[in-house]
Amino acid sequence: MPLTEVIASLGTNPYFSAGAGLFGVGMAAAVLKRGTQFGTILFRRHCMITLEVTSQDKSFHWLLQWISRYGTRTQHLSVETTFNQTDTGKINTQFAFVPSPGAHFFNYRGYWIRVERNREKQMVNFQAGLPFETVTMTTVGRNRDLFFEILDESRKLALQSQEGKTIMYTAMGAEWRPFGYPRRKRPIDSVILDKGLSEKILQDIREFIDSPKWYMERGIPYRRGYLLHGPPGCGKSSYITALAGALDYSICVLNLSEKGLSDDRLNYLLTVAPEQSIILLEDVDAAFLSRDLSKENPAMYQGMGRLTFSGLLNALDGVASAEARIIFMTTNYIDRLDPALVRPGRVDMKELVDHCTDYQLTQMFLRFYPEEPESHAAEFARLVISTGKPVSAAQVQGFFMMHKTDPDTVLQNVDQLPTI
Ligand code: ADP
Repeated sequence: MPLTEVIASLGTNPYFSAGAGLFGVGMAAAVLKRGTQFGTILFRRHCMITLEVTSQDKSFHWLLQWISRYGTRTQHLSVETTFNQTDTGKINTQFAFVPSPGAHFFNYRGYWIRVERNREKQMVNFQAGLPFETVTMTTVGRNRDLFFEILDESRKLALQSQEGKTIMYTAMGAEWRPFGYPRRKRPIDSVILDKGLSEKILQDIREFIDSPKWYMERGIPYRRGYLLHGPPGCGKSSYITALAGALDYSICVLNLSEKGLSDDRLNYLLTVAPEQSIILLEDVDAAFLSRDLSKENPAMYQGMGRLTFSGLLNALDGVASAEARIIFMTTNYIDRLDPALVRPGRVDMKELVDHCTDYQLTQMFLRFYPEEPESHAAEFARLVISTGKPVSAAQVQGFFMMHKTDPDTVLQNVDQLPTI
């Protein structure tokens, strides 16, 4: 049969026409599908905005809290338990509900926002022992300011809940984690140091915080080191905590004798310390004594990072950040410190926090027994000094606690004040 006849017969063949019809419908569906996919991609690319926040980021928890408080009415929640200290000093447990992994929707200022929280099953942050997570917010439009506003609001909300509190951080692996509950700020005048000492330190630190330009212009690292030394129980740690409260700073406590603290880790921790924080290296003298343990028992310490003295010096010198970096060190034995550690640039201010002076004894008495006349306070100080034995503020405080409502007994029994 000639070709023209074959084509003509196909045209009249009902089976062939049905097949061709089906083929056409299939083609059209495929084209439509591709078109829709393409259209969706175009739409997402040009008409939607997305913001991804990972669990490594500081805003991650703030954002989750904000979403659960103001945003989504979701019924699918995860719980985060925190401890909080009330103004009366009582510790409360608080349960915060945050959106659980999955997708949630909420309306914010007329914008519908889709929030997707994803938890990676395969990826774990080994340092912190937590799964890697992301929160992605998507909305229609091009208004990126919307996300800035949300992040800013969530940051403010988080900071508000910390107002009047001092947060203590401790080093976990390579990061700083809040530890314990946020403590109520300790009023700075509740730690009674020798006359003028507290004001002197506070003024120095305020001046430092207010002068980043001075340091930048001279190319000097924007850091300042303080060393408080003196016998135990005289208020070194309490003062630093109170100081942080007065400055609205948090405290990052680092124990240099901690096993597994290597030069690199220390260096890294000092660079990533949270904003507005004081780094506190307690009992710096102990760090290098205990290092000898690693020589005595090499098997136990094998493979573990070690902090070396030169590593500490390098870390202290290398702490350069755009932000004020304040380092406090404390020791009971200043004579055990290597002069290299306390030279200017590493320690810019060195102060002795010693046993109670006449001034401190008077002030402590008046603070504890505010109803008492000043003459009684002066008498108490005179009696304590006349024993000729040094006393620490912690001992005086303990003695007052034994006679909470009875200042007369205190005056009559000064000889029972425990001394060193
Ligand atoms: P240090 O760090 O010098 O060993 P701490 O700050 O740990 O001393 O003090 C121990 C306790 O004694 C704290 O409970 C603190 O309230 C009290 N204390 C110590 N020094 C003072 C002080 N100068 N004024 C008020 N209380 C003090």
